[in-house]
Amino acid sequence: MVKFLVDLNDPVIKGYLSRLVGDEGFKVVLNMPEGEVTDEQIAQATGVLLNIVRRTLFILYENHLASYRRVRDTDSGWLTYLWKLDLNNLDRQLEMESKKLLKNLKTKLEFEEGKVLYACKKKCVRLGFETAAELEFICPECAEDLEFEDNEKLTKNLKQRIVDLEEVTSGASG
Ligand SMILES: [Zn+2]
Repeated sequence: MVKFLVDLNDPVIKGYLSRLVGDEGFKVVLNMPEGEVTDEQIAQATGVLLNIVRRTLFILYENHLASYRRVRDTDSGWLTYLWKLDLNNLDRQLEMESKKLLKNLKTKLEFEEGKVLYACKKKCVRLGFETAAELEFICPECAEDLEFEDNEKLTKNLKQRIVDLEEVTSGASG
């Protein structure tokens, strides 16, 4: 198993990678053999299906977390891809990810804060009071009743997540 500078047991890092490549893909990252290896060697070493290994490598490559070298076999002429994990960019990726998430949360909070919302029972729509009243509290998608939705808890939650995240991101850059 490769030794990384990053801690793969860290919940933030683990969460990020699992979202990126899935649980099986994370197994690949975790048990990736050391040095340059082929996808078949990785599948063998990790016990993960070859097509999932390939998909994982491709996603990691796209996110600058893995690299490959092409080698031509002098006898057969076949091209072999030798893969290597490179998690040095992970910190930067995580920081970018956090900033993106922070922006999304702020946009969401802006929408939620101080609003009286009505939501469809089947969760098709969430509308402000005026729009809901115009529709006579009937869902425009499925004709179910629209019900008052107390979003205070959600708003509070969003605020807390923003505070937490701001702490992390400013801590990372400073
Ligand atoms: Zn509906």
